[in-house]
Amino acid sequence: MSAWHYAGAMGPKHMTPDEFRRHGYAVVDWVARYMEQVERYPVKTSVAPGAIMDALPKAPPEHGEPFEALLADLDEVLMPGITHWQSPNFFAYFPANTSGASILGDLLCSGLAVQGMLWETSPACTELETSVLDWTAKLLGLPERFLSTSAGGGVIQDSASSATLCAVLAARERTLAGEGNRLGLADAGGGLVAYASSQAHSSVEKALRIAGIGSAQLRLVDVDARHSIDPEALATQMRRDADAGLRPFFMSATLGSTASGAFDSLPAVVGPCKLHDVWLHADAAMFGAAACCPEYRWLHQGVEQADSYCFNPHKWMLTGFDCDCFWVADRQALIGALSIMPTYLDNAATASGEVIDYRDWQVPLGRRFRSLKLWAVLRYYGVAGLQALIREHVALAQELATWIDADERFEIAAPHPLNLVCFRHRAGDAANESIMEEVNGSGALYITHCELDGRFTLRLCVGQAQTNRGHVERAWHAIAAAAP
Ligand code: PLP
Repeated sequence: MSAWHYAGAMGPKHMTPDEFRRHGYAVVDWVARYMEQVERYPVKTSVAPGAIMDALPKAPPEHGEPFEALLADLDEVLMPGITHWQSPNFFAYFPANTSGASILGDLLCSGLAVQGMLWETSPACTELETSVLDWTAKLLGLPERFLSTSAGGGVIQDSASSATLCAVLAARERTLAGEGNRLGLADAGGGLVAYASSQAHSSVEKALRIAGIGSAQLRLVDVDARHSIDPEALATQMRRDADAGLRPFFMSATLGSTASGAFDSLPAVVGPCKLHDVWLHADAAMFGAAACCPEYRWLHQGVEQADSYCFNPHKWMLTGFDCDCFWVADRQALIGALSIMPTYLDNAATASGEVIDYRDWQVPLGRRFRSLKLWAVLRYYGVAGLQALIREHVALAQELATWIDADERFEIAAPHPLNLVCFRHRAGDAANESIMEEVNGSGALYITHCELDGRFTLRLCVGQAQTNRGHVERAWHAIAAAAP
């Protein structure tokens, strides 16, 4: 009798490997059917707040239930409350696309259930991650100083927000010459000042709050007509702060703002950053993926001067959430900020100094084998496959922009070099809000909005794995039909 059947009278009833196989096939079938049918669902759920909770039992079952019962509840109770991010008619926020390769890589990660906090706790988990991050840096044409063979290197974070937090912590460490961790908040945070444009993602402010530096120490610098940071205003602000006895220490340049896809110019901000010894972080959360195509590498111009950089394969590179790639040019500042060595983690490999322990490159101790899904995507699609996806999405967004341009009722609201188009009806905020409510309420598509130049602006972002020209065309027809 196998160990699985020998749980003993008091022990739990485990799912045996044979049962796992059976239920596993059913789950894979479920997901495959979902992929086939995702377009049939209303993209955005209209479920009322609390409805899903009300339909769920208030406590766990006393005795285990057949796994089929869970799948039945998934269909009946949960599916009505799902917004279908994988629908080809999903054009809201930013894509969070995935792929069969990523899903299977994730399944392998769950199956191995490795805890990769140290090299010692699973060398393959660490070394595949290092290797895949080097591959990805080459895929995007990132500078050599981000490769593991340099003083820098890459790591997978759960999100761009975590990457920015780690960059802030490393920057603080560098500015305070290794004293950043030892000093209390009052001493360490008081004089430090950080910078980003007024269009930067809220994760910059959140990182400063978490680091104990505080929102009041963040200068949100003005932007120009294209919503890119005004480098003159940045230089003036840094000088003013330095003259006042404060310590400029961190700047987050946005390579594609969330609202409108505006790009800060790295070459233009690097001067003031260098002058004040400010850590320059580049946040390319969604748009970084486009750099796998040489013709879009303009978006990385100047990145060789950045101290750190991140982008999210979990947005526009077919890799399921969570997967943010974060690189630093000098790993020592990051490790100095985040490494604490309790005796229970002592091991010969760490002591040798020859291995990477990724727990020192992130906030949590524990970590999943996330590189498996990115590895699966890179190997399944290859560079050419990923380039084809990006090029198709960019071409669709560009075509959409020509249709908007040709309709006199609408205007384009921001430059749209890649897959995001911001536009608005000329009749004003109320008209735009009502267009968005009508098309989203129909369930046929899902778009969101932002505020640009003080006006309610519609955004349509092309990025789902299955989106083709027909989906974008139908989306535009629906928007045009809803317009006064
Ligand atoms: N930075 C930018 C520019 C973003 O657009 C986003 C998400 O929209 C983020 C950061 C946050 O990403 P994450 O959810 O990975 O923290």
